[in-house]
Amino acid sequence: MITDDTIVALSSGTGGAIAVIRMSGEQCAEICDRVVRSAKGRSVATSKGYTMLYGDVVEADGSVIDDAVVAIYKAPHSYTGEDMVEITVHASRYIIRRTIARLVEAGARAATAGEFTARAFLAGRMDLSQAEAVADIIASHDRATHHLASRQMRGGYSDELQGLRGRLLHLAAMLELELDFGEEDVEFADRSELRTLMAEIAEKIESLTSSFALGRAIKEGVGVAIVGRPNAGKSTLLNTLLHDQRAIVSDVAGTTRDVIEEHLDIDGVDFRFIDTAGLHSSNDMLEQMGMERSRKAIEEAHIILALVDGTTLPKSTEEAKNSVLEVLGEIGCGADERCLVVINKCDVAVCDCSAVAEKLDAVLPHPAVTISAKSGVGVDELMQGISAMIDSQRIYTDAVTVSGARHYEALVRAAEALARARENLNIASPEMTARDIREVLDLLGTITGEVTSDQILSEIFSKFCIGK
Ligand code: GDP
Repeated sequence: MITDDTIVALSSGTGGAIAVIRMSGEQCAEICDRVVRSAKGRSVATSKGYTMLYGDVVEADGSVIDDAVVAIYKAPHSYTGEDMVEITVHASRYIIRRTIARLVEAGARAATAGEFTARAFLAGRMDLSQAEAVADIIASHDRATHHLASRQMRGGYSDELQGLRGRLLHLAAMLELELDFGEEDVEFADRSELRTLMAEIAEKIESLTSSFALGRAIKEGVGVAIVGRPNAGKSTLLNTLLHDQRAIVSDVAGTTRDVIEEHLDIDGVDFRFIDTAGLHSSNDMLEQMGMERSRKAIEEAHIILALVDGTTLPKSTEEAKNSVLEVLGEIGCGADERCLVVINKCDVAVCDCSAVAEKLDAVLPHPAVTISAKSGVGVDELMQGISAMIDSQRIYTDAVTVSGARHYEALVRAAEALARARENLNIASPEMTARDIREVLDLLGTITGEVTSDQILSEIFSKFCIGK
């Protein structure tokens, strides 16, 4: 991973009129000057950083491939901390291929995945969690994911974790000093201070780990499974939500045989709506397979919309309420915290849907919503209800939200090691306490990259695309 040669890659995405080819490394100026002929006889080598140069990208025989603008960065004031150029050419696949080929002929090497960002990390331009956030910010698809990535990229995690690490480091040093004194009965680390600090850190780690459920949901898209008996109106609801005809609507029970997933942005958060095949007993193989996938989608969903067909409910409010509860029991969505009950077809139902919903409130975790999926009445209220079930606004507070699985795992293991450290302190074993605290320090260090290995780095950066 640690090389000092000069690397090159296309950094801009596909499509568009212009392309940006990036090169980084010591030989950058020299290589660029061999390939780009400046109109005014200037060179990258003699140019200052943060300037631009205009010229032609040329073949070995002097023929012109394209005209180009070269942005010049001088170490350490660049993304990678090395000398860098960004060559802008027209976005023709031929021009891009020839320009990169010419730069390679002139001495550059084709960059591997994530190599520019890896160099930025190794040069100390950013820590590991910030480097990972670069990939997240490029992948961000709504206000919430952008906010999470942007905050992490600006060092949100790092401040929090380095603060914790710094204080623990001091404690570990004190304990280790005691151990150095061996037989002598000295106590440098004040035990009650140690206990207080460890409790405080455990609480901090706990608050970080508990934010992961929300962080992950936002990053992956909040899964909303629409479940209910066949014909309850699941496909119709999905179509109304999306204003198109993605799901197949028909009067024949069991039409939706597969799981259909669609994305919808509500208040800046990406929700993944999953229309599941109706859950009911069936001998049809295809339907059974669809139902199996439905069960899985339900298991993994953050929110379950339990859709009840209002036209199947009796007129009496009390009886209708019991009938809804029966359906909920059947689809396994009774007391589940994730469950939001939706009574559909209220435009034609014989019962008083609102009165039934009101009666249900006493026994349900969230107020039931009444709609007509067909006409769209009540659908806005339903969206508000869905949005309220995910406390997405929490990510905009001062607290840091963990969204990376790697970070979460390190935090969980750190919490375990810290719990052991606290136990060992209680049984007066400074050796074991010191060892456990070291483990906590190492684990926290892997998040920001203060403690790392080639293996961790290549795992992280290989997931990037080339040119990042
Ligand atoms: P699914 O099997 O749960 O996906 O149900 P569909 O979405 O295919 O709907 C079954 C039938 O109910 C279709 O004929 C829909 O037009 C009808 N339907 C769905 N929602 C409503 C509604 O709110 N009001 C009325 N009147 N009919 C509806």
